Amino acid sequence: MSIENNIKFFNDKLRGTRAKLIAVSKTQPIAKLQEAYAAGQRIFGENKVQEMEEKYQQLPKDIEWHMIGHLQTNKVKYITPFVSLIHSVDSLKLLQEINKQGKKVNRQVPCLLQVFIAQEETKFGFDESELLQLIHHFPTELTHVQIKGLMGMASLTHNQSQIRSEFQKLRKLFEQLAAHSLPPAIEMKELSMGMSSDYSIAVEEGSTLVRIGTALFGERNYQKT
Ligand SMILES: *Cc1c(COP(=O)(O)O)cnc(C)c1O
Repeated sequence: MSIENNIKFFNDKLRGTRAKLIAVSKTQPIAKLQEAYAAGQRIFGENKVQEMEEKYQQLPKDIEWHMIGHLQTNKVKYITPFVSLIHSVDSLKLLQEINKQGKKVNRQVPCLLQVFIAQEETKFGFDESELLQLIHHFPTELTHVQIKGLMGMASLTHNQSQIRSEFQKLRKLFEQLAAHSLPPAIEMKELSMGMSSDYSIAVEEGSTLVRIGTALFGERNYQKT
């Protein structure tokens, strides 16, 4: 299958759902992103700041760049001028830095709060009580961030019902928050969940942004980049 066909496949799959396709292009060479672009893809997801910056500079400016990987505070400044959405906000400290850098470039930087839903110890994110604490006591000095919704990653397991229940948990939280009055800087519009192996469950459970890498571009080669 070509990248073009894979993009078509996903666009067909997602037609009639709430979900948009993010092409996760981390580690992939520019030529592959150009192929996806030629097939109409305009949203790309990266997880390394330097790589995203380099690709941003080389590719057309109508691309939306989404940061999906764990972000270190000292690197925030490199992406705040152009990033369309940061999915991986997992601490108040990071949010404060995004706010500081957003102020410098006069932008309100769109962000998602990453919520820990998996059973593994290794995943980043807020747990439910930390999330509610942050949202209900949202610091008023954070004038240059816009919270657009939530992001989560299910456990790496073949147990489909476990994956589904983790996505359901996130969706419930999302809907509960959306039903209440929120601080002006926060809205619950986007629910980023689902990757190559679990996107169909995620879409059934209400995902608005699926992050697909391998199923579009093939396996990643980490050595080459
Ligand atoms: C790499 C990555 C993806 C895409 O994973 P695939 O299994 O290749 O689709 C999705 N989300 C995050 C946060 C990632 O780091």
